[in-house]
Amino acid sequence: MKPSFQIKDVKRFRRLRMSGALRSMVRETELSKNDFIYPMFAVTGKGIKNEIKSMPGVYQQSVENLVCDCEEVMKLGIPAVILFGIPDHKDERGSGAYAEDGIIQQAIRAIKKELPELVVITDVCLCEYTSHGHCGIVQGNEILNDESVELLAKEALTHAQAGADMVAPSDMFDGRVARIRQVLDEHSFIHIPIMSYAAKYASGFYGPFRDAAESTPKFGDRKSHQMDPANSNEAIREIEQDIREGADIIMVKPALSYLDIIRRVKDEFTMPIAAYNVSGEYSMIKAAGRNGWIDEERVMMEVLISIKRAGADMILTYFAKDAVKLL
Ligand SMILES: [Zn+2]
Repeated sequence: MKPSFQIKDVKRFRRLRMSGALRSMVRETELSKNDFIYPMFAVTGKGIKNEIKSMPGVYQQSVENLVCDCEEVMKLGIPAVILFGIPDHKDERGSGAYAEDGIIQQAIRAIKKELPELVVITDVCLCEYTSHGHCGIVQGNEILNDESVELLAKEALTHAQAGADMVAPSDMFDGRVARIRQVLDEHSFIHIPIMSYAAKYASGFYGPFRDAAESTPKFGDRKSHQMDPANSNEAIREIEQDIREGADIIMVKPALSYLDIIRRVKDEFTMPIAAYNVSGEYSMIKAAGRNGWIDEERVMMEVLISIKRAGADMILTYFAKDAVKLL
């Protein structure tokens, strides 16, 4: 068979790849420090800075150390952090989550006092605070929806009262965005945005996070509220609903195995989209990097640019500080 083209007719794509300057001129996606939200873990106590074994470079920190770390985040020009709390006491109803002097409430006050400009987002869920490690109230083998939502709304309110700039419900119970919005508005927090973990999948990539947040369920799993990794249309339905309920930013979590979802959401909605580059995605790169199997920095930047290229407007990532130092 004869070739259907002649070499003189071939389009020379390589022309625009011949130098760094040329490549930079035609680059379609660029990372910026403004893209990042840095996740942090607060623990009660003093002088604590424990590295999480499965997440090198990530720490559980007591409040004063957390504030120092936030200062570094700000100096690097990263606009926002998201806080997770590890309480000293857990119970069936996760009361540490909505206690006025809970660990997160203390952390918010301390950070906002020193660094009022830093955007402090708070994770709103109960799993770090319940003795059984589930995201809501458990009755028998069932995780109750509406009763749990009430507590989440209460938690979000205490975060706003402590000075949080944004709340981020991560539970995936039905109706929680609407209820949180209502409770915030009733208490004059009409200006506090909600970043909704709108399409959160039941994922194996959360493993190291559960070490970090000490939130592994004591029995069962999260498949009755988080989404099946096989589904894409369902993500659209979840997101539509959260937007209707009042979400200001919608999130897809995890990021790397769900780039198609991020792209689809970007094409179907005009909302700001966040993507969570989760603990397992971080740990895999760290581990392979430490073993010399991959070039850690290069792979990190490639992963982050892929998440942005897929359509994320902001990326929650443990790599935030490392990435900004390279930009
Ligand atoms: Zn949870």
